[in-house]
Amino acid sequence: MTNDFANLPITGGCLCKAVRYSVSGEPIVTRQCWCRLCQYVGAGSSTVNVAFETKHVTMTGEVRKFESVADSGNTLLRGFCPACGTPVTSEAVIRPHLVFIRAGTLDDPSIVAPVMNIWTKQAPQWVLLDPDLPMVTGQPPPAA
Ligand SMILES: [Zn+2]
Ligand SMILES: [Zn+2]
Repeated sequence: MTNDFANLPITGGCLCKAVRYSVSGEPIVTRQCWCRLCQYVGAGSSTVNVAFETKHVTMTGEVRKFESVADSGNTLLRGFCPACGTPVTSEAVIRPHLVFIRAGTLDDPSIVAPVMNIWTKQAPQWVLLDPDLPMVTGQPPPAA
């Protein structure tokens, strides 16, 4: 079942379980990002990112933030567990009302599915993109 949120809260956390979160509201959108920075975070592949309203997300444990300027020009904070290194969050400084959670950290990653591929112009040449999903070659419009 994809994109079915009958069961709230949505829970998840990092590999070592030092970081845990609970989300009391439904996701806004799930997008698969192929930007060059995401290839570092995604160990060579894309990242799958689920947008939530920040006010719905309760995080426990230390999430260390790495700040950098993305190709979009936005300053992003990429949150990860300092103990196990799992990427957990991404936040644009200009949009503090949103937090993107890395889909791999969901307790049940199957509850969401990407609805679009973004930054496809930076994808590695071997990538097979789902032709049924919208593709944005660069930065998409804000999630909310
Ligand atoms: Zn951890
Ligand atoms: Zn990206």
